[in-house]
Amino acid sequence: MLIIFMTSSNKFNCPVCGNNSYKILYEVTNEQSAKHFIPNQSSKKYTQLSQHLLKLWGKNKCQVLECQNCGFGYANPYMGGDKIFYDLAYQRTGYPKWKFEFEETFNSISKIIENTIIDSNSQLNFLEIGAGDGSFTKKILSKLPSTRITATEYSEYGIEQLKKMGITVYPIDFRQKSEEWSQKFSIVCLFQVLEHLDNMEFTFNVLNSITKNKAHLFISVPNQKFINFNESNGALLDMPPNHIGRYNKKTFELIAEKFGWTINDYKVEDSDFELFLNKFTLYKYLRDIQNDNTIENFLSKNKIIKKISLPFRLYYLKIKFKKLIFENYKEVGGSALWVHLMKN
Ligand SMILES: [Zn+2]
Repeated sequence: MLIIFMTSSNKFNCPVCGNNSYKILYEVTNEQSAKHFIPNQSSKKYTQLSQHLLKLWGKNKCQVLECQNCGFGYANPYMGGDKIFYDLAYQRTGYPKWKFEFEETFNSISKIIENTIIDSNSQLNFLEIGAGDGSFTKKILSKLPSTRITATEYSEYGIEQLKKMGITVYPIDFRQKSEEWSQKFSIVCLFQVLEHLDNMEFTFNVLNSITKNKAHLFISVPNQKFINFNESNGALLDMPPNHIGRYNKKTFELIAEKFGWTINDYKVEDSDFELFLNKFTLYKYLRDIQNDNTIENFLSKNKIIKKISLPFRLYYLKIKFKKLIFENYKEVGGSALWVHLMKN
């Protein structure tokens, strides 16, 4: 594996620990990245996205690096996707139903609220950043009045659902509200959001500014081990500029220390053999479609053949990778990491 040591003045220093030695996990061109999001290379959107990535990165390549000190994985350029990227790369997909990080956070918040009621002066204000269609926020309504709940969300559908629940929702990047929301919140949730964000220093400075003393911060991100396992076994890449940061326990310990928080709890989602196998084989199938000279690529050229062959191809992949998954799924863990931080 290629390991490079750079001078401390270079801009590839780890965004978490500042270390300047890293290994290159891989490098992609703007075209490879565009193909990941839009497999149909003859479509107009593919061309637009490919061109847009050139502008976003300022060059035709993006690397994925891993810090040799803290293990943080990060894109270089460390630049999140902008609105144009998301408009081109993603059509509206389904919103997550109840899931691991929701359960853990809800249990913790329930305890926090129970313990806070004794003090009538405490004003618990809750913020969910990137609240989707409100699947989590809805449950918080059973614990707090809607006047205490705030959300941010970009999608129009999500905003509509949140408004129906009586929740105040802003279609903005929360980092614009640093001053207006100064010391407003006692509980902040970011579920599967942090891995999309660049400018870490600014992100955590704003989180500090909008929270009260002793505030609680709940974060979930993709499990780095799960991503690494998929990538190193030929399944989908966790492609920038959608995800640009890969977190682990050590990165959260360093972030907590640097920005004045303490880790109260940390969990990796449990791994289930069948779920893991299903997800892996689907990701493997989708990655193969992107590569010329694979059967999946050939079959996907015709829509009808693609549809008919899909279940057979997935079945074949399941048999092929069953042993590999069985030997690794417990050690790798599920797809999410969850952490509960408390402000010092
Ligand atoms: Zn680092």
